[in-house]
Amino acid sequence: MDLPAESIIRLTAFGGVLAGIGFWELRAPRRRLSLSRWQRWPHNLGILLIDTALVRLLLPTAAVGVALAAADRGWGLLNILAVPDWAAIVISVLALDLAIYGQHVAFHAIQPLWRLHRMHHADLDFDATTGVRFHPVEILLSLLIKLAVVALIGAAAVGVLIFEVLLNATSVFNHGNVRIPAWLERRLRWFVVTPEMHRVHHSIRREETDSNFGFNLPWWDRLFRTYRAEPVDGHQTMTIGIPQFRDPRELRLDQLLLQPFRG
Ligand SMILES: [Zn+2]
Ligand SMILES: [Zn+2]
Repeated sequence: MDLPAESIIRLTAFGGVLAGIGFWELRAPRRRLSLSRWQRWPHNLGILLIDTALVRLLLPTAAVGVALAAADRGWGLLNILAVPDWAAIVISVLALDLAIYGQHVAFHAIQPLWRLHRMHHADLDFDATTGVRFHPVEILLSLLIKLAVVALIGAAAVGVLIFEVLLNATSVFNHGNVRIPAWLERRLRWFVVTPEMHRVHHSIRREETDSNFGFNLPWWDRLFRTYRAEPVDGHQTMTIGIPQFRDPRELRLDQLLLQPFRG
């Protein structure tokens, strides 16, 4: 697999999911948005553009490139143990998902990291564009952590690509302001983090912010006892965001970039 093909798979999957969830939000919204889309979408999508450009500029080959290099040189656990291809792919996806769960817990627990990550939580509404709203420095740090994990476990390149496409897709899906029938949602959340699960993570109540850290697989939260089924204030009436940044002016792109460096 060459790298341009990888970019095309990634961009097509991501564009499709964003458009699909956006359409679903218009047809069947779960909550009434408290602000107009114009106040948030251009800025959240602006952050997405900056993040994408930065990653492409600084580390264009990124994780799949490191996986290919590690396979070439026999680096990392899975390459040393010569695990069968299919098992290496499954283990790579699981290990990367566990790593990103652990990283998310750390970004809440360690103060300088929380300053970077809290910008994601400062969105005053919760919809698909919240799922792409991460500070560029957080994106770069996560990328470096991911590269280290990929090299360490000797992740399979296909596993890395599957994981990244999945994560981009699920991150937009589980921030979706979409209505899902309750019977279906109850079953879905055994296999994937649903919007009902991740919305709890965007609650203004700190004990709820510090729960449901998973992005793809919902199992880590249950395993490590950070799972919370519902917000105490109810999905319709709960407050989204964090106490620090409640002024709608904080939703502007320039403010999003500055928030980590403010009190
Ligand atoms: Zn978080
Ligand atoms: Zn989130």
